[in-house]
Amino acid sequence: MTVNRNASLEITKEEFKNIGYQLIDRIAGFLDTIDEKPVTPGEGPQALQKILGISSLPDNGSDAKDIIANATDLLMNHSLLNGHPKFMGYITSSPAPIGMLADLLAASVNPNVGAHILSPMATEIEKQTIQWLAEFIGVGPDYGGILVSGGNMANFTAFLAARTAKAPKNIKKDGLTSTSKKLLIYCSKTTHTWVEKAAILFGHGSKSTRWIPTDASNKMDNDLLEKAIKKDLKDGHQPFMVVGTAGDVSTGVVDNLNGIASICKTYDLWFHIDGAYGIPAAIVPELKQMFQGIKEADSLALDPHKWLYSPLEAGCTLVKNPKHLTDTYSSHPEYYNFSKTDHGPALNFYEYGLQNSRGFRALKVWMALRQVGRNGYLKMIQEDIGLSQLFFQLANNHEELEAITQNLSITTLRYVPLGYGDKSDWNEKYLNTLNETLLDKLQLGGQVFLSNAIVNHKYCLRGCIVNFRTSIKDIEEIIEIIAREGKEMHQKLTTK
Ligand SMILES: *Cc1c(COP(=O)(O)O)cnc(C)c1O
Repeated sequence: MTVNRNASLEITKEEFKNIGYQLIDRIAGFLDTIDEKPVTPGEGPQALQKILGISSLPDNGSDAKDIIANATDLLMNHSLLNGHPKFMGYITSSPAPIGMLADLLAASVNPNVGAHILSPMATEIEKQTIQWLAEFIGVGPDYGGILVSGGNMANFTAFLAARTAKAPKNIKKDGLTSTSKKLLIYCSKTTHTWVEKAAILFGHGSKSTRWIPTDASNKMDNDLLEKAIKKDLKDGHQPFMVVGTAGDVSTGVVDNLNGIASICKTYDLWFHIDGAYGIPAAIVPELKQMFQGIKEADSLALDPHKWLYSPLEAGCTLVKNPKHLTDTYSSHPEYYNFSKTDHGPALNFYEYGLQNSRGFRALKVWMALRQVGRNGYLKMIQEDIGLSQLFFQLANNHEELEAITQNLSITTLRYVPLGYGDKSDWNEKYLNTLNETLLDKLQLGGQVFLSNAIVNHKYCLRGCIVNFRTSIKDIEEIIEIIAREGKEMHQKLTTK
């Protein structure tokens, strides 16, 4: 290699191989023994700052090999390991090893997937990934879309497309204040916080979101939805979008999507599905019924970095008619020479979303889809659901645990001390305190990582399995850990 400038960032071929092979060895060892480590070392910010060391910006450089070794130690020994088989907090998956390699390759070639001319093959791979994701969830290959950083961004991307499609046409030029009608959004009370963020950030104000109550099964109450729309129309407002959730973030419930679809049709509203977590489960034949209606949606959000096990970050917006994305996001400044090619029209992803320069997120998603195919994913998703059901069942059978909910791969449960008396006499306030303190202890203890959910005012422990490393044995052990730590916590709280 000719290194004319002798630039200090350059690494020679031999050195690159040397450092790179060592790093790969460390990563392979890390993955091979990940189940022997604590899920988290549970260190606080001060302890971590001490380990990291105080330093101001270095004036001069140091050896790349040492830096890589040091960063590897810092990260492997002082991180929460979401690749651990006993990690089931929030909705973060074990990362697929092929995705780790994909990110390395993507960064090496460094295509800018904003424009076709800047990323010829990468753009084609992203287009194919979008098509495969649409096929995966069963909506058909003609959808358009774009990969983004995650669920929030995927939902935002769709939100703005919905507004362009349904709001008065002059809004693009004259802004939101050009209409006296309030543009309104409808979603269930269980919808993720992105809706609130979107309403505020995109100028509608938080009051423009109608949070529709849920029914007994925790789905959006579609009768109340229709009533709310009717009332708002009567009051002179302009409803424009309804958000259905396919796998709510707390308990995994899927709304009655078909019902929402027909309401949207009646009132000419944009139907968006937030399937950031749950929609990959639409691949499971036994769950087809639950996901009926997804083909009616104008747009969908899903998160490959959740149930498709992509390393962070990867979210995806799918839109039935891709023109709604270009209508919203396309602009043609004079300094871009992107639209012409000698080979016909090219798709430029900067016209499909908020970003301009874009990294190659699609590669890790595409590689994993190729590595295991539809059937590989089907099996892993079915197993995650099966393990979650087992978790619920074992909690249900355990005399000190109360199983609360089980949907998709999310189970909620709580610790109830032995001999706590009749259910009607339970001190709910104490049980909430007990379970909250128990969760705090578990989250820092490193034996298992769970998160929480509030179900009917009950503070619950919550396990969400989007983890291809979790096994039956892990679930059995986690049940024992919760019962043991719960008992200890109860003793501690009652003998104080
Ligand atoms: C996770 C999640 C989000 C947010 O996604 P991020 O990837 O964290 O930005 C939104 N909606 C639902 C239903 C989710 O599960």
